[in-house]
Amino acid sequence: METNKIYMDHAATTPMDPEVYEAMKPYFGPEYGNPSTIYEIGQKARNDIQIARVEIAEILGCYPEEIIFTSGGTESDNLAILGVARANKHKGNHIITTNIEHHAVLHPCEALEKEGFDVTYMPVEPNGIVDPAKVKEAVREDTILISVMYANNEIGTIQPIAKIGRLCKKRGIPFHTDACQVAGTLPINVDRLHLDLMTINGGKIYGPKGIGLLYVRQGVNIQPIMYGGEQEKRIRPGTENVAGIIGLAKALSKAQQGRNTENERLIELRDYMIREIGERISKTKLNGDAKLRLPNNVNITISDIEGEAMLLRLDMMGVAASSGSACTSGSLDPSHVILALGESYEKAHGSIRFTLGKSTTKKDIDYVLEVLPKIIEDLRAISPVSL
Ligand SMILES: *Cc1c(COP(=O)(O)O)cnc(C)c1O
Repeated sequence: METNKIYMDHAATTPMDPEVYEAMKPYFGPEYGNPSTIYEIGQKARNDIQIARVEIAEILGCYPEEIIFTSGGTESDNLAILGVARANKHKGNHIITTNIEHHAVLHPCEALEKEGFDVTYMPVEPNGIVDPAKVKEAVREDTILISVMYANNEIGTIQPIAKIGRLCKKRGIPFHTDACQVAGTLPINVDRLHLDLMTINGGKIYGPKGIGLLYVRQGVNIQPIMYGGEQEKRIRPGTENVAGIIGLAKALSKAQQGRNTENERLIELRDYMIREIGERISKTKLNGDAKLRLPNNVNITISDIEGEAMLLRLDMMGVAASSGSACTSGSLDPSHVILALGESYEKAHGSIRFTLGKSTTKKDIDYVLEVLPKIIEDLRAISPVSL
């Protein structure tokens, strides 16, 4: 058995940057104060959170008070969707989103439908991108929220966020984007993108898991989804995750500083991998637009194969990849994102996602390119759907 350990699942989570880890360490030790207390150690923690908030606000181009720290991407999405919908009920009950959102957006929307809200799930084009003109057509007098993810976590397609944002601004409709997959890669200036709400988390940008933020533009009506203390302007009560907040700020600023050169490197590796898989394996298809996609995302459907079987074989060869999303792995339902591209159930089962990262080298990719065709050949030989 091979002993290579190749991690190609950076869309699921990234390893923590050692500098981020170092920055967080004191808060697991001597800096244990509760930021809501008045004595020195508490005030120090409060001050450190404020410094992190200001640092993040500079990156987003917003006011520090517009940042609400949460427990991660899921909570931020829930807070944005449930919090804005419920706070604006008097104005209308229509919400627009897409059918390729993360479940952290889709499931709160479904919960809202049970509360009487009406949700439009916009279909995407076959390239995995939503057409802003169609979003415009879907807007109604009673639309109170639009939520479109910045880039998709499975197929990596980048949505026309600024265009949709401009449209929302004109109509005075709060616009939310889930930016978990892009915070380390693409520009996230909230004014240039015309955003009212934005979700970011730490675990996808070489920071800690279990921390996130929701940007909420001043003046946006939002209500909490939890009740308790007065932290985070009472929008998100509970003692702050001080270490996480410090780590998130560090990770975000590091990622944004180095992103241009790293993106160029990743795009080259990504396109090489896509091209070579297409040449070395028959009956494959790239999922999502070839150009308007995250620099690190390779998502390919391989016909006559069951995705989970491929993953297990790759794991035995020391390669960590994903089929569908991490959240759907383990269940037999095919990915809702691949299905949204118009693929059949069988095809959707055979999709595989490699997401590259800082540690990925061409050598790693060459290794995968060497073992993958053999795995496919073996699996196709025993596949009941193979022709
Ligand atoms: C990972 C992810 C989430 C969930 O974030 P958690 O921090 O795991 O709660 C939400 N949306 C997208 C697009 C993601 O990639």
